[in-house]
Amino acid sequence: MKKHNFSAGPCILPEEVLKGASESVLNFNNDNLSLIEISHRSKPFVEVMEKAIKLVRNLLNVPKNYAILFLQGGASLEFLMTPYNLLSLEGKCGYINTGAWSEKALKEAKKLGEALIVGDSSDKNYNYIPKNLIIPENLDYLHYTSNNTIYGTQFKAYPETNNTLVCDMSSDIFSKKIDVSKYGLIYAGAQKNMGPAGTTLVIVNKDILGKTNRDIPTMLDYQTHISKDSMFNTPPVFSIYVSMLTLEWLQNNGGVEEIEKINNTKAKILYEEIDRNPLFIGFAEKEDRSTMNVTFNLVNQDLQEKFDLLCNNNGINGLKGHRSVGGYRASLYNALPLSSVEHLINLMQKFEKEI
Ligand SMILES: *Cc1c(COP(=O)(O)O)cnc(C)c1O
Repeated sequence: MKKHNFSAGPCILPEEVLKGASESVLNFNNDNLSLIEISHRSKPFVEVMEKAIKLVRNLLNVPKNYAILFLQGGASLEFLMTPYNLLSLEGKCGYINTGAWSEKALKEAKKLGEALIVGDSSDKNYNYIPKNLIIPENLDYLHYTSNNTIYGTQFKAYPETNNTLVCDMSSDIFSKKIDVSKYGLIYAGAQKNMGPAGTTLVIVNKDILGKTNRDIPTMLDYQTHISKDSMFNTPPVFSIYVSMLTLEWLQNNGGVEEIEKINNTKAKILYEEIDRNPLFIGFAEKEDRSTMNVTFNLVNQDLQEKFDLLCNNNGINGLKGHRSVGGYRASLYNALPLSSVEHLINLMQKFEKEI
């Protein structure tokens, strides 16, 4: 039996997607060739790329003046591409620092110019989302991380700003409805909620590009990739294909609207159990709790070995918390079924009775 996979990333993908992915490696489109041995400029693959882009556009209602790109280098390269493409030589940008990923993004921006911290929750090991921020009005852009994968916190509202909004949505894209028109740029590494590692989704408003008076290295320039439809160089065909299958699966299951309801239910019942069960305690502030990554711990850490054993013996994978938070982290990405969450809750209740 397949394990209940709570891994934070790379993460669980739907069973039918994994099947489609493995078939494509042996025999793609019944052409007796493998997906990974054909030209990326051949008709079958160009169709894959076009379909993936169309699915993103439909699922998130992406407006026409936004380009949809499948790039490489992970979300981590976007930390650098963002300032290269949006921060002018004499300009300033702002970052809301809600954890390790925001910090890494900020570090890259500082290499290219003036980057201000306009909100910060490091005083409590990032267990909350800073609010009531005073954000300068003349920024080239404001960057934030919508879901903090490590700490289990999530923005429940868009930051109030007139500046161009840039968002790292690596760990909650496609998990809930968003209004893309509020953003200048959205990026997300595939491997949290979309597909296997290897590609990064970028959604960018074309009107904000070409204004920094910088000499941008060719591969780091969004306009390079827009002008070549994400095929300036060889794209990561496997990762894009499997992402396309996942997006198709999402669309066939009612799209973002339907998955959001299920995601809310999964998170709700697990948080309820954490709050009810006297053995456990949540990490993130209640109002900022993530629906994607649920962070919690045992009140009595001496019980850890026993609880870990119970989980291991019952098919649970990937529950260990990030080392900077400790405890446990249950990642409830789109493909994780409700039954896996119910299984975990049953184990927590069983543990309470046994102890
Ligand atoms: C995992 C993660 C990243 C890093 O993504 P890579 O694709 O590995 O570079 C960045 N931001 C967030 C929010 C993440 O969860």
